[in-house]
Amino acid sequence: MMLKTTAFLFFLLLAAGIHAETRDLGHGIQLQGQFVQGGMVTGTAPAAVTVQFQNRTLPRASDGLFVLGFNRDDPPEQQLVLIDAKGDRQSVLFSIRQRAYDVQKVNGVPPRTVNPDPKDMARIERETAQVAQAREAVSTLPFFSKGFRWPVKGPVSGVYGSQRIFNGEPRSPHFGVDLAVPAGTPIFAPADGVITLAEKDLFFSGGTIILDHGMGINSGYLHMSKLLVKKGDKVKQGQKIGLVGSSGRATGPHLCWRLNWYQSRLDPQLVTVTPKP
Ligand SMILES: [Zn+2]
Repeated sequence: MMLKTTAFLFFLLLAAGIHAETRDLGHGIQLQGQFVQGGMVTGTAPAAVTVQFQNRTLPRASDGLFVLGFNRDDPPEQQLVLIDAKGDRQSVLFSIRQRAYDVQKVNGVPPRTVNPDPKDMARIERETAQVAQAREAVSTLPFFSKGFRWPVKGPVSGVYGSQRIFNGEPRSPHFGVDLAVPAGTPIFAPADGVITLAEKDLFFSGGTIILDHGMGINSGYLHMSKLLVKKGDKVKQGQKIGLVGSSGRATGPHLCWRLNWYQSRLDPQLVTVTPKP
């Protein structure tokens, strides 16, 4: 079952032409995925071994599968900590590739969203905590293991990792892929999951959904004009979850699609299995 799941995922990644690499780290640890900033990697380990990565104990599926991901600026040296039944710890090192990111200038966003006033700042802090909490809500089912489809089809207008300059002022990097499609375009769940956040009006991201795909993997949908699900809903791959809009810090209608491992930002274009839109 375990081998079947990972072999299937590997097949999907190959089918999409995405370079998925397999690494044997010894100690019964096999990893498979994109060993690069923004990449997602699945793995298997002996059942008796607890696996930790970046100070988290990794949830394990019933077949032993675990998953982890690399943030935008994660360093090249990475390690797994293995803890055996006696409590003995051992570090296993591996490396990931570093990326160079573009600079993207975005002009014409509402000035209030570039330089928020103190009242807005208090709201932003509340909402940031709420979103971070939703990314910690983790199902133990490996919904992600069947792969991801594109939630909408349309031209890519913003890529993962870009340094953003809003109305001439540098701000946080971009952590998703932007798909430019008309307002009202339906958004389809890219994989099965559980809705852990559904908010109509967040300060930066407007209408926002977070979808838990299990074991730390979650996805986000921003700037939506309409939400068709609520917190706690279970959704299936291909189910309509909302409509594209331009709410929040946006210049026009598009879907900003995010993928995360807990709080780490992954690149949806690295892990999406259907052809590019
Ligand atoms: Zn975006």
